[in-house]
Amino acid sequence: MTIYNFSAGPAVLPHEVLQQAREELLDWHGSGMSVMEMSHRGKEYMSIQAEAEKDLRELLTIPANYKVLFLQGGASQQFAMVPMNLLRGKKSADYVNTGEWSKKAISEAKKFGAVNVVTTGADKNFSYIPAFDTWQRDPDAAYLHYTPNETIGGVEFNWVPDSGAVPLVADMSSNIMSRQIEVNKFGLIYAGAQKNIGPAGLTIVIVREDLIGQVLAGTPTMLDYKTHSENDSMYNTPPTYGIYIAGLVFQMLKRKGGIAAMEKTNIAKSNLLYSAIDASNGFYHCPVAKSDRSRMNIPFTLKDAALDGDFLKQADARGLLQLKGHRSVGGMRASIYNAMPLEGVQTLVNFMNEFAKLHG
Ligand SMILES: *Cc1c(COP(=O)(O)O)cnc(C)c1O
Repeated sequence: MTIYNFSAGPAVLPHEVLQQAREELLDWHGSGMSVMEMSHRGKEYMSIQAEAEKDLRELLTIPANYKVLFLQGGASQQFAMVPMNLLRGKKSADYVNTGEWSKKAISEAKKFGAVNVVTTGADKNFSYIPAFDTWQRDPDAAYLHYTPNETIGGVEFNWVPDSGAVPLVADMSSNIMSRQIEVNKFGLIYAGAQKNIGPAGLTIVIVREDLIGQVLAGTPTMLDYKTHSENDSMYNTPPTYGIYIAGLVFQMLKRKGGIAAMEKTNIAKSNLLYSAIDASNGFYHCPVAKSDRSRMNIPFTLKDAALDGDFLKQADARGLLQLKGHRSVGGMRASIYNAMPLEGVQTLVNFMNEFAKLHG
């Protein structure tokens, strides 16, 4: 039986990447060492990290005046590092509140400065993105922070806010590399790797050079972007194995036609699942406004929540794993990141249609 893993994160990785990692596990390219055993300052490992950065830059067309940093601490650590580094003496920062991850970023930022929440989707239980022309932005804000894809609520921006001269900061943890972006519209992009890139333990930051170097007094060395940018992410030991796996994922993405090809498949996958939900005569329901529905994380409920247990048990028996919704939302959530093949979504849809017929 083929297993399809719909976990929100850590999440499914490309099968061929895991196979390659297995083949190279004990002896990387005839070095006699596992990547896990290599000195991060040795020539073998340095070549792995350099190649990963080069491929990432190529895939996202990252301009030369942006630094790529390989960090630890998760996206959650960026909730603090962003204000510590980017407030730069300004009075406050603008934040968009579209759900659970926005809220966490906002509450952490409040420890370091004033936060102006420019808009919130709270009035409709975070099921939509308020129109840009209603946002109450501060032209003097240090930066504008938003969450392009809310992993829990399943709300995704299909557009990029135009923040003008104010640097735009994006938590792309759950949709980085799933769609084409123009990096030069952003001041800083960050993402935990464990959803769309690689294993947990690696956090990627892409930051415009001129935003580095003006940290709040008292900022620890390790939380200063400058420390990492000046040392090619090797001030201390980087998460070497995670960077190696991420590098394999980047190589695979290049072989498969890059981000444009991924985006095309992601559109097809998400359309397939949303169509099944919308055609179920209310047996399944997705609460998110149609224009703001995520291509990555698709929450849905069953008409009768008493059937949830049965649904999950039967899905499991067919190899459709980790469909249980987030504890704060309930119901189901199918996370269909880059590494989820179209056949996985088709198998899920077939099962959902059968289940609905049986219980509808
Ligand atoms: C998962 C997630 C986080 C938290 O990531 P950690 O790496 O666990 O800190 C933050 N933001 C978004 C959008 C996420 O999906």
